[in-house]
Amino acid sequence: HLGNATAKAELGRSTWKLLHTMMSRYPEQPTADERTALDQFIHLLSRLYPCGECAEHFQKLLKLYPPQTSSRIAASQWACAVHNKVNERLGKLIFDCSDIEAKYPCGCESVE
Ligand code: FAD
Repeated sequence: HLGNATAKAELGRSTWKLLHTMMSRYPEQPTADERTALDQFIHLLSRLYPCGECAEHFQKLLKLYPPQTSSRIAASQWACAVHNKVNERLGKLIFDCSDIEAKYPCGCESVE
């Protein structure tokens, strides 16, 4: 069904955008509490993600590739690699993960 496929793709694009942008702003030196928060966020997302087929596959991916929370670079490279695993499964192109943080500006720099 085309309508469903379009909605699923739109949900996916929005979710990836949020995830990669979050990673690009994640602390370079996170506290233990921040590390726990990110790990829990990802695992809860994999349980609550509204596309059931996607959620199921994402949970399996998380078992193989647990979220990396030790630094901004580790987290953003992890998210890029996991997104590439999904790309691979869906027959999409593999994304270049170098300089990933610069590709996801958040527009949230403080203004004086
Ligand atoms: P998307 O994959 O949505 O990517 C959006 C943009 O992000 C791309 O245009 C590119 O600029 C950039 N990008 C691409 N790869 C990367 C990367 N590795 N790192 C950083 N940026 C990148 N769909 C299904 O049909 N079946 C599934 O099982 C499924 N599982 C999913 C699981 C999760 C957790 C999520 C978030 C989405 C899932 N989706 C699934 C949706 C799917 O991944 C796509 O979002 C959707 O098909 C739209 O694809 P797209 O080609 O527009 O690009």
